[in-house]
Amino acid sequence: EKIDIIPVLHHILDRFEMNKTELIDFERYIPNERIFVWVDQDKITQVTDNILSNAIKYSPEGGKITFQAVKEKNRLRISISDQGLGIAREKLEKIFERFYRVDKARSRELGGTGLGLAISKEIIDVHHGQIWATSKEGQGTTINFTLPLMNRKRGSKK
Ligand code: ATP
Ligand code: MG
Repeated sequence: EKIDIIPVLHHILDRFEMNKTELIDFERYIPNERIFVWVDQDKITQVTDNILSNAIKYSPEGGKITFQAVKEKNRLRISISDQGLGIAREKLEKIFERFYRVDKARSRELGGTGLGLAISKEIIDVHHGQIWATSKEGQGTTINFTLPLMNRKRGSKK
């Protein structure tokens, strides 16, 4: 369905902030305007929750998590950055594969199945967006995804 994504993002992040520990410092940068996208709201919530939970899980010392939504030419870009373990360059694409986990031993301790990002990628693909990671090992990770913007005129014609 066609929705204004901005209140949805605030809602997801309000809930996240209520549940996070004091170790995590959280910042959000979200444009103060209406931004229409064609999305399944539950699915996009699931993607955002997956990425945020990873940001916490792979940041043992806490640090800052930054959520940024940026309106680009034809798309909305969401970027979620942490100051955690980081991911080696050659593994940045693999983390979106099913059951792939960077450090098997460490990941086993932390729990999980290695499916969160694979499912997120499937959801973003269905929405005709992109998802990718950038990172500096030992410094932190940014997971980005995009959603195509709706043409408001065309959407309001029917
Ligand atoms: P699940 O999400 O199914 O509970 P998971 O977190 O291991 O398990 P994914 O969310 O798909 O699985 O992530 C895959 C792997 O990518 C993780 O095991 C971890 O090694 C790495 N990873 C994901 N996010 C981050 C991050 N923010 N910082 C460092 N490594 C990450
Ligand atoms: Mg995960």
